[in-house]
Amino acid sequence: MGAITGTFKGFGVTFSHMFRKVVTTDYPFKPPVSAPRYHGRHILNRHPDGLEKCIGCELCAWACPADAIYVEGGDNTEENRLSPGERHASVYQINYARCIFCGLCIEACPTRSLTMSNEYELARDNRQDLIFTKEQLLAPLLPGMEQPPHPMRLGDSEKDYYVGALSNPGTSAGAEHAANSPGRYQVEEHPGVTFPGAEQQAQRAAAGKGDEA
Ligand code: SF4
Ligand code: SF4
Repeated sequence: MGAITGTFKGFGVTFSHMFRKVVTTDYPFKPPVSAPRYHGRHILNRHPDGLEKCIGCELCAWACPADAIYVEGGDNTEENRLSPGERHASVYQINYARCIFCGLCIEACPTRSLTMSNEYELARDNRQDLIFTKEQLLAPLLPGMEQPPHPMRLGDSEKDYYVGALSNPGTSAGAEHAANSPGRYQVEEHPGVTFPGAEQQAQRAAAGKGDEA
């Protein structure tokens, strides 16, 4: 008798689920949308003129509990300027076989160069491909930006860049959503969420700055 009751109880559970909303997603054809502040793949951001924000200080590497970041600094010269100020990252790598997406590196970054995007499709079929290089991590050039190396366009010192950043806080924020972004993941609109600097970037592009050689 107990066995029969148990059987009907089991079918009852199955039956009750038949009328619930289906949670199956059509992945990978329709990737689910992540939260706006989801911690995904990193991005090395740029200044509004295209220069790199990374100064090769290695603070992100020291902050990383998983030893996932490797940085080598290099000197900027007038002929080869990649960032404002004295130094840039000549080598920058993140090993996604190690990264635990804790975000401590982006907290440590003094220039807001390093941020995290919403991109989560990071599976690879070998370990070597999980080591992302600087070229893969750099934000794409947005309209109005100029491919480095080039002189500082926003002021004579790096201070001009960072003081200006108070009113123009990181024009590459949201660059992962650009049409030419690396990776195929595209984030849908999040009503009420605007990415900082997007408006200034649009104004700069409209003014045609960054096109001068
Ligand atoms: S998110 Fe965490 S584990 Fe990943 S690189 Fe940054 S500090 Fe290291
Ligand atoms: S990403 Fe930030 S913390 Fe890391 S080396 Fe570049 S400037 Fe320094």
